[in-house]
Amino acid sequence: MKERITPHLQRLIARGSTAIREQFKKKRGYVDRSDFDDDPLGEETRYSPVKGLVHKFGNRVLFKVSYRCAAHCRFCTRFRQIGTSDGDLSTEEMHKCMAYIAEHGEIDDVILSGGDPLYTPRDTKVILEELAKIPHVKVIRIGTRFPVHSPDSFKSKLVKDLLHAVRIVAKKKVMFVSIHVNHPDELAPNVIRAIRLIEKTRAILVCQTVFLKGVNNGVAVLEDLFKKLYHLRIRPYYIYHCDKAKGISRYVCSLKQERRIMTELRKRLSGLAYPMHVVDIPQGRGKVPVPLDFWNGNSRKVVDFDGTVVKI
Ligand SMILES: *Cc1c(COP(=O)(O)O)cnc(C)c1O
Ligand code: SF4
Repeated sequence: MKERITPHLQRLIARGSTAIREQFKKKRGYVDRSDFDDDPLGEETRYSPVKGLVHKFGNRVLFKVSYRCAAHCRFCTRFRQIGTSDGDLSTEEMHKCMAYIAEHGEIDDVILSGGDPLYTPRDTKVILEELAKIPHVKVIRIGTRFPVHSPDSFKSKLVKDLLHAVRIVAKKKVMFVSIHVNHPDELAPNVIRAIRLIEKTRAILVCQTVFLKGVNNGVAVLEDLFKKLYHLRIRPYYIYHCDKAKGISRYVCSLKQERRIMTELRKRLSGLAYPMHVVDIPQGRGKVPVPLDFWNGNSRKVVDFDGTVVKI
């Protein structure tokens, strides 16, 4: 994956944000020595019925609009594909995706992903409008990091047109926009302004986060992040254990540390500000929740928020 950093992110790095630098700058001399897989989630090999779709969970399907993003996160699960034309869909391929969804009445929830759907607003608008015509599709979600990468692009006509389309579709379908945010430094004032524009579409805002070693693997930083998001009317949805994809091993935290952090955060945050901690199971199926440290197996002894062992 090529290094790609937007002027906006460059400015944050220049102002001294190590969290941004760690996420986007190539590390000099870094060689990934992991034996991690190219496609740890089996997206291409096992669960892709047609190019562009990943159909892993009965009623939900992932629609990969492209492999293009405004900036390239060095920890991306799709490390080897991002920034290439491999995921570009021809009109015919796009129609094949639509036909597959139309033929599968069990699909009621479509997640536009990529790559970043907001980075290719013209294509995403077409896809969104086509999906809106399928009666059994009740929920459409857009997963994006564009407000964080390129907040000033929200002034462009193409992005405005897409947001307008989201607003129209949101009258008919349940629309979610899920923003990928990992660190409070990402919530710069112009990013917040961009988020406000998305909010005007009446799509429900949620966010997703990845545990990243050297970026956000601490209680204080995540407490700050989730509180800020909650106060911005964004509901933290998932926090992921970093996928073990080839090229990104330096970011993977220990699950033990992640559990300790999530247990402490449960004491400090409202349930509404607290995301579900999951591992997307490699070579398997499921975003499986990671247990917290309050329970010990099936024992009826529980540790409460004060550390007291209570029998229930
Ligand atoms: C994450 C994911 C979904 C959506 O899962 P939810 O738990 O409904 O958010 C759907 N399909 C694929 C392939 C996924 O990776
Ligand atoms: S925005 Fe998402 S898809 Fe794009 S490089 Fe970052 S993590 Fe990967």
